[in-house]
Amino acid sequence: MASLPRVAAFVAARAGRELSTLTTSTASESETAPADKNFLPGPVLLLGAPGVGKGTQAKALMADYGIPQISTGDILRANISSGTPLGKMAKVLVDQGTLVSDDLVNQMVAERLKQPDTTRGFILDGFPRTLNQATWLDAELVAAASALPVIAISIVVDYGQLLRRITGRWISPAGRIYNTYTNPPAIPGICDIDGSQLIQRPDDSEVVFTERMKTFETQTAPVVEHYRNQHRFDEINGDRTVEEVTAAIEVALKRLRASES
Ligand code: AMP
Repeated sequence: MASLPRVAAFVAARAGRELSTLTTSTASESETAPADKNFLPGPVLLLGAPGVGKGTQAKALMADYGIPQISTGDILRANISSGTPLGKMAKVLVDQGTLVSDDLVNQMVAERLKQPDTTRGFILDGFPRTLNQATWLDAELVAAASALPVIAISIVVDYGQLLRRITGRWISPAGRIYNTYTNPPAIPGICDIDGSQLIQRPDDSEVVFTERMKTFETQTAPVVEHYRNQHRFDEINGDRTVEEVTAAIEVALKRLRASES
């Protein structure tokens, strides 16, 4: 059962939404408008192939709405680097670009959703990735009696662009992201800001990227269709600046919540 604060927060979110002015403008008209800080989007899923920018967008939404990003990939990587039993089990699969078992990630997400910071909403980044995970999540949210149902946003970028984004990606230990093609550091391999050594994720090689794309096509594309058919769904062109993509997502979130009432 949902805790009272969770229900109250979602009810408050719904009330806030009803009070806020509903946008009737088109996405292009509103794309430069700042986020409405009084609007709470509730639970949001960011779907899309590796490299579409789910993590970057989740962080932007987190900053704008004050709700947490829950990235199953980040949780798995944190477990791998601290050598927990979960990390040891997941390492080979993550390094190869294949999926970790549904039970394991569902359990991880269930634990994370128990944290009090999720009561006002949350952004799931990289979950669900299989139909089993989606069905589990739908049931979990119904059982939690969330006043707001989930909204799914699918970010779309073409294959060649994704390949460049992934194989060109270099990350600093502090999480700054560079790209050999589009945003290279001044000195190759070195962070411009703090001089630290940049690293590549082991699964960002071309071979593993190909595997991750296959996994996306076979296992995750049906999840996109599952949420498309539930109609609280929008598809966003991710081949624009980060700010333009964020603005388009925020317009879609407001429109989809407004259409529920
Ligand atoms: P990401 O950082 O989201 O690209 O995830 C990196 C890797 O973590 C994936 O290639 C999978 O091996 C694993 N992973 C992340 N999320 C999931 C999930 N929802 N289900 C299964 N495996 C996952």
